[in-house]
Amino acid sequence: MAEVIVAGAGPTGLMLACELRLTGVDVLVLERLAARSGESRAGGLHARSVELLDQRGIVDRFLAAGGTGPFAHFSFLPLDIGDLPTRHPYALAIHQSRVERLLEERAVELGVRLRRSAEVTGLRQDRTGVEVRVVGAAGTEWLRADYLVGCDGGRSAVRKLSGIGFHGSPATLTALLGDVRLADPPPGLVFGAEGRRDRGSFMVFPAEQPGVHRVITMEFDTVADRDAPVTVETLRQACRTIADTDFGMHSPQWISSFTDAARQADRYREGRVLLAGDAAHIHFPSSGQGMNLGIQDAANLGWKLAAVVRGQAPADLLDTYQAERHPAAERMLASTRAQTALWRPGAQTDALREVFGTLIGFEDVNRHLGGACTQLDIRYPLGDGHPALGRRLPDLDLTAPTGRTRAFELLHAARPVLLDLTGLPDLRAAIEGWTDRVDLVEARCDAEHWVYPVIGEVPAPAAVLLRPDGHVAWVAPASRPIASALRAALTAWFGPARDR
Ligand SMILES: Cc1cc2nc3c(=O)[nH]c(=O)nc-3n(C[C@H](O)[C@H](O)[C@H](O)COP(=O)(O)OP(=O)(O)OC[C@H]3O[C@@H](n4cnc5c(N)ncnc54)[C@H](O)[C@@H]3O)c2cc1C
Repeated sequence: MAEVIVAGAGPTGLMLACELRLTGVDVLVLERLAARSGESRAGGLHARSVELLDQRGIVDRFLAAGGTGPFAHFSFLPLDIGDLPTRHPYALAIHQSRVERLLEERAVELGVRLRRSAEVTGLRQDRTGVEVRVVGAAGTEWLRADYLVGCDGGRSAVRKLSGIGFHGSPATLTALLGDVRLADPPPGLVFGAEGRRDRGSFMVFPAEQPGVHRVITMEFDTVADRDAPVTVETLRQACRTIADTDFGMHSPQWISSFTDAARQADRYREGRVLLAGDAAHIHFPSSGQGMNLGIQDAANLGWKLAAVVRGQAPADLLDTYQAERHPAAERMLASTRAQTALWRPGAQTDALREVFGTLIGFEDVNRHLGGACTQLDIRYPLGDGHPALGRRLPDLDLTAPTGRTRAFELLHAARPVLLDLTGLPDLRAAIEGWTDRVDLVEARCDAEHWVYPVIGEVPAPAAVLLRPDGHVAWVAPASRPIASALRAALTAWFGPARDR
């Protein structure tokens, strides 16, 4: 028994478990593998994901485990993100295995129950809960929970068992990834456009383990059987075809294949079953987005599911998860398709890359693509009012009664915050009935404008209602009375008022 079962202990499942547990939900994570694989598909986190970790007070652990640089790219055409308005205007190069280790440590600290060698193989749901069939070392058993979230990767059993369609564009290429030793490595690293050739592309750069190289190949217009075994000989052969050498490859640590198939779940929720991360969307890893999308899905879903499980909010709050996160992934699928098109071999693509390279040199284009790549530009569809509505709150410097602080520090406990920046007289009375769930913080901020990526300066609001994921759910209107508008927003996001 658990309040929420999470299938899969990848980055998405672990982040979600942390988010749920922070608000006191009893979470059980079921993971098929007996131990963490140690394999690192992803190599980094973008600014919005780093901000989310900062919002929870755990970013230092991640910064200590990686390196930062003000770089991003669009199909390996460099973007300058160094002056984006965030405290984290960089990419954090950190192996996925380290992200998983750190998130797992955090989950255990918070009291998440994690069961390994536990594969989800069946489910059935009724009006009050979900039953999950688990196959593990001890045999087969059925476990019950209020909700189940499938964070079980691109081939998600939870998605298939729920009958949720997974549609999009098929594979047009075969990519191989191997962490191998090289007797005859290239003189420097081969990363990005340097490895584009007539018959595909290759990359060679240091892997996590000293002395080991990561070799990645891409061959267009050939789609290998995804279930066929991939061996070091397969990778050797691909290197010979594309780069005319196999670099004296030997001693593989792990080898895997992936494609540019781009698919998305038709719906993210079926009753009491939800999907997040790769279970909900897959795409080519152009500009390294998948792990970031999953972590951000988890931050969006966690507090909503917690509020529903606690009985504080109605179940249809969960529909806002799909309304907000489906378009975010849809946009990323389109972006990765465009980047893949710009990566194909051939003179026409070379010419297109020249044109794009010139365009990216224009500040507005660089800013637009940088905002999308870092996912700092996301605006959830909460209405057309103040431009901050639906966007993330910038990490403002604040002076609160307790002293100087930052906006993100107010979000460490994953509780909603009504942030009063101008001493509005009606707020304290208006929030009566929600003080068990929402914190009122009165603070001063010197900034007359807030600065957002892409759109630039917006007038600083007098007060905002912040969701636990850091997005602005309500902005105090310029004219009074404001109490009824605030109460409507509090009810919509955090459930009806309670008598005290
Ligand atoms: C070459 C490559 C490079 C990439 N680079 C980047 C990058 O730089 N940045 C980035 O953001 N993303 C990158 N990605 C994408 C990233 O690796 C994925 O998007 C990310 O792993 C998704 O996380 P997840 O937790 O949703 O799924 P997964 O990481 O797939 O985790 C799913 C977990 O569920 C478990 N599981 C599966 N089935 C079951 C079951 N039935 N029951 C219980 N457990 C189950 C699995 O064992 C696994 O632990 C890259 C991908 C590739 C292939």
